[in-house]
Amino acid sequence: MRRKVEGYIFDLDGVLTNTSEFHYLAWKRIAEELKIPFDRKINENLKGVSRHECLRILLGERNPDSSLFEELLARKNSYYRDYIKRITPKSLLPGALNILDCIREKGGRIAVASVSKNTDEVMTMLGIRGKFDVILDGYSVKKTKPEPEQFLLASKMLSIVPGCCVVFEDSSAGIEAAKRAGMLSVGIGSSKRLDSADLVFNGLDKIEFNSMLGKLERF
Ligand SMILES: [Mg+2]
Repeated sequence: MRRKVEGYIFDLDGVLTNTSEFHYLAWKRIAEELKIPFDRKINENLKGVSRHECLRILLGERNPDSSLFEELLARKNSYYRDYIKRITPKSLLPGALNILDCIREKGGRIAVASVSKNTDEVMTMLGIRGKFDVILDGYSVKKTKPEPEQFLLASKMLSIVPGCCVVFEDSSAGIEAAKRAGMLSVGIGSSKRLDSADLVFNGLDKIEFNSMLGKLERF
């Protein structure tokens, strides 16, 4: 029997907007202050990962005491919050508004599920907060992607079973979480990096909505 896709769950960073660039700049500033080598290649490993885990990856073998660790986490967030003040509705990635409208027309329900603790503020600044039925941020769950906990919570709050939900993600950790949750997945970015997703597009603007939906409902 063909499934009906009714729940649409979006990651925020790298899918709806590019705050990933602001994360990159904030981590780069921290790395420079600590004199740790850091570039865009290393930054790829930080995508879709919690702030705490990002700092562990950045520090590698270095093991600062817990008060310095906490201070670095707070410092990174304050740099990031400075950068995101520059966000406006123009910061939405191409195709974002269009797909949200297509989903609404089909009667679908929409959630955002992000590890970012600034999700609410970013959504408001982008002017899309009102388009979402459910907003889940970094405070909503204990176990972050690739654990499926947040997507399962989104499914529950949307009142739509996981098998009828599709996740839009730019990170491989997010795609894995969608799979573990028993959901369909659409990778946004390079098909090489996201090859485990059911479908991959180079951006939301590359999606032809009805054709994508037809493919997803045949899986
Ligand atoms: Mg992301």
